[in-house]
Amino acid sequence: EATNFAVRVAPLGPYGQVLVLAEDQTEHHRVEAVRRDFVANVSHELKTPVGALSLLAETIQDAADDPEAVTRFAGRMQHEAARLTYLVQDLITLSRIQGAEPVPTPCPVPVDEAVHDAIDRCNTTAAAKDITLVAGGVEGLQIWGDEELLVTALRNLIDNAVAYSPEHTRVVVSARPAGDSVEISVSDQGIGIPESAQERIFERFFRVDTARSRATGGTGLGLAIVKHVAAAHNGAITVWSKEGSGSTFTLRLPALGGVAVPATPDISTI
Ligand code: ADP
Repeated sequence: EATNFAVRVAPLGPYGQVLVLAEDQTEHHRVEAVRRDFVANVSHELKTPVGALSLLAETIQDAADDPEAVTRFAGRMQHEAARLTYLVQDLITLSRIQGAEPVPTPCPVPVDEAVHDAIDRCNTTAAAKDITLVAGGVEGLQIWGDEELLVTALRNLIDNAVAYSPEHTRVVVSARPAGDSVEISVSDQGIGIPESAQERIFERFFRVDTARSRATGGTGLGLAIVKHVAAAHNGAITVWSKEGSGSTFTLRLPALGGVAVPATPDISTI
């Protein structure tokens, strides 16, 4: 990797001494490049639905005397508008979380409440595919952090699990104490993620299959949001996945008081 040094020379003292400052700008350049890429990606992602919307508006004008076509095109316009809304919402969420690193006012957060809240909000999409959302072993655990951020991260993980799974499958959300942390996992029986892509899926706008991800309504920002939620808690997000069998995402967050309270096993809900 190329290294960049910015060298500054300042006069110092009466005998012609100089002060030479050499500043390593490699990191600065890398951050700049990432920022430029992100802006270019956002512009591209915004242009696609906006382009589709203006094309559809033109088509609708031409099809004014065909009510069936008008209804069809209006439906597609709604779909593109919704995509635009999700993208803007995710961009706002991402920038808000990046501004909240580390979590400004951490509180005790009951894991079961956050898990059930996230499951409730994903139930409609899951039901449409006859996917059962199950919570197991989440009782009695508490993290030290931000409830809203935790729910946001879990919703993104559960949304993905549902989006990338076939009908009539199960998504299991479970939690366990792990030293001074709590590990919360979301497991699906879906399409899985090729090993070569597993490292990159947490990057903003990275998708394994762009067409498929767009079709499921994904913005490409979900896992980047999860990664920042983990970072804001000084935690971590990891993935285990096997193509064709499913994926498990594990979010590790600090336990309340530094020690996780062991959960009472509740086998009946698993
Ligand atoms: P998207 O909005 O495209 O789902 P994400 O950042 O949430 O964006 O995920 C990035 C990519 O990782 C997805 O496009 C998909 O290819 C892959 N992915 C994420 N979660 C899963 C999962 N549970 N099963 C299979 N692939 C997944």
